[in-house]
Formats: sequence, structure tokens, C-alpha cells
Amino acid sequence: MTQGTASRRVETALERARHGRGVNREEALALAQSVSLPELLEVASQVREKAKGKTVSFSKKVFIPLTTLCRDYCSYCTFRKDPGQPGAHFMTPEEVLAVAEEGKRARCKEALFSLGDQPERIFPEAREFLRRQSFTRTLDYLAAMCELVLERTGLLPHANPGVMDGEALDKLKESNASVGLMLENVSVRLMRDGLPHAKAPDKVPTLRLRTIEEAGKRSMAFTTGILIGIGETMEERIDSLLAIREMHEKYGHIQEVIVQNFRAKPDIPMAHYAEPSLAEMLRVLAVARLILGAKMNLQAPPNLSYDDFPRLLDAGINDWGGISPVTKDFINPEAAWPQIAKLQKETEERGFLLRERLALYPEFVTQENFLTSHVREKVNALAGPDGFATG
Ligand code: SF4
Repeated sequence: MTQGTASRRVETALERARHGRGVNREEALALAQSVSLPELLEVASQVREKAKGKTVSFSKKVFIPLTTLCRDYCSYCTFRKDPGQPGAHFMTPEEVLAVAEEGKRARCKEALFSLGDQPERIFPEAREFLRRQSFTRTLDYLAAMCELVLERTGLLPHANPGVMDGEALDKLKESNASVGLMLENVSVRLMRDGLPHAKAPDKVPTLRLRTIEEAGKRSMAFTTGILIGIGETMEERIDSLLAIREMHEKYGHIQEVIVQNFRAKPDIPMAHYAEPSLAEMLRVLAVARLILGAKMNLQAPPNLSYDDFPRLLDAGINDWGGISPVTKDFINPEAAWPQIAKLQKETEERGFLLRERLALYPEFVTQENFLTSHVREKVNALAGPDGFATG
């Protein structure tokens, strides 16, 4: 390809991106590799503004780490534990309720259930805990705990338990406002020996895509996203974002896409691995906005960028994710969430309006088939006429 052809290709890609037409793979690559960061950020911000205006959202959530046991060993994970390790735990119904009630007192509206993937498949201790609660699968226990929290507190559950089959999704739909699973990346290469998913059977990309698809077939609003900085290439990031877009085009159920940046932590196999720079994070976020288009909700967690977090707004995001006033972030416990007041100040200083949303994004609140009538009742009690949270 001559230099002239290459630069025309970049110009065409920029033009298409500016109009909010989701770019194709070749165009996304041209944008990611050849456009300066300031220009990329400017276009991503323009595209966000077409559908989101100046609104940036967040959800007041309480974090419920139902179990830290997990059958996978992702090399970047600090959350998972083996039985007997400090912090290894399965929460009892009483513990779940106590945390949820504390969240309710702090005026949270979302109960985010995060947990390891299928620990009962490898740990007798997990099977024994579940047996004492009259369950055989963690996913069934999870569904029961979501139901308990919904009934007793009115907080809206959002379950994030790893790979889910159709049966589990059917049960979770009875009590969840939305569910989630990070795609992480579609690259099977990352499962090779020495790479981060080598010992993580639930990180097989087709399994994760199948979960996203099964949720789509059931009209369940879905949160997913990619993790960057774990050894993936730019092409693999773009392929992952395109796979998410394709799912959404088919089922219309992806409510938000998260771009999460790897952070090195002392006790993980990847402790000395280089973290992606802020510039890299901004570039990927901007490309994500241009792939996903103006309407998709794009989120970056503020606590993983420390004091630089307000700069993420430059890259076309329109959501900060769940902010917890009462529980720390158990996935990244060393990274304190910025206080909501700080989030508001920094967001508004950049000309945006910070608004509280529910575990279900406003555009899904008004769509009938995304909720059972039972969950709908609870959502209606918390949503205003425009679908954002009240009070
Ligand atoms: S599946 Fe989730 S909880 Fe389990 S090791 Fe991987 S990142 Fe950690």
C-alpha cells in the first residue's frame, strides 16, 4: 500500500467514525494505529455527544462477594482464593443480607454480586457449603441470594458470576435487573502456557460469547467488556469489541461495555508485568467508542486510573460504573473508590452532568420484555420518568 493510499484510508475511517457509523475492522485498526491521540479523543468525544449529550452516569451499589473460591487461576486476579487461604469465604444468607441492608441504609440501589466461577467443580469445601444450604451449584445458590436481597431490601441485583448456562440465566432473570460477564478478550492465544488464561477453563472465549448470546435470547440486559494490558494485541482488542457489537446487533441487549485496565499487584503471578499507560487506555477507549457507536454506554472504572481518572472523560466514556459508599471494591481492594462527591466535582468541572442510574440503564427501563413483572415492580419503585434513579 502506498503512503497516499494509507492516509486516504485513515481519512475515510475518521470521516465514517465522526458520523457515528460504527467502523469496520480495517478502519478501526487504521484509527488505532495511525491517528494521533488528541484527534482520536476529539472524534470519540464528538460521537459520544451525539447520543449522550453531557450526561455521565454512575450507579450507587453495594458489593456482595458471594464467594472468593474459584476454579480458574487467571494470572492477574487478586480476588480468587483456594480453600484455607486467608480471605477464602462463602457468604451465608445472613452475611449477604447484612451487607445488603447496610447498602440500603446508605441509599444504594444496586446489589452487585461478584464471585468466583464454579468452585464446586474442584473444591469439596465448596460442595459441602452448598450442600448445607441445600444447593449443588453455586449459580443456584446465587439465584436464591439475589431473590433474598430483592425481596428483603428492594436493592436491584446484578449478578456477575462468570460463565452462565441457559438454566442459570432463566433463574437469575427472576430476580436480576441485569447480569454481566466480562468477555475479557476473544483471543484463544491468551490460553496458551505462560499466558494469563492458561489455567482458566472458564475464559475460553466461545464459552463466554455463548453466555452473552444466551442472555440475549432471553432479553436480559447485559454488561460486558474487555480487559487490556494482559498480553493482547490491538487487533485482538478490536476483534473483541467487534464481537460484542455483533452480539448487540443481533439481540439488542448489551447495556454497557467496560474497558478495564490491568493493574499489577504484589500477590499475583503478573506482579511484575507492565501496566498499560494512561495514553494506551485513552486510545483503546476512544477506539471502543468509534467501534460501538454513539448510543452504546461506555464505561471505565475510575479507581483503576487513580488521580488521572477525570481524563478518561476525554475518550468518549459516559459512565463510571458502580460506586460503593459502604463496601470496598473487593476485586481491587487497594484502589479506594473516589468518593461520590469527588466524582461529581471532577465530572462537573469538565462540563458534564453526573446522574445516578440503576443497575439497568435508562434505555432498558422502558423496554417491557427485559424484566419479569416482579423485578419491574422493584425497578419502577426506584426509577424516575426518564429511567434514571430518583432521589
Ligand atoms: S475467573 Fe474471575 S475470579 Fe476466577 S480467577 Fe479469573 S478473574 Fe479471578
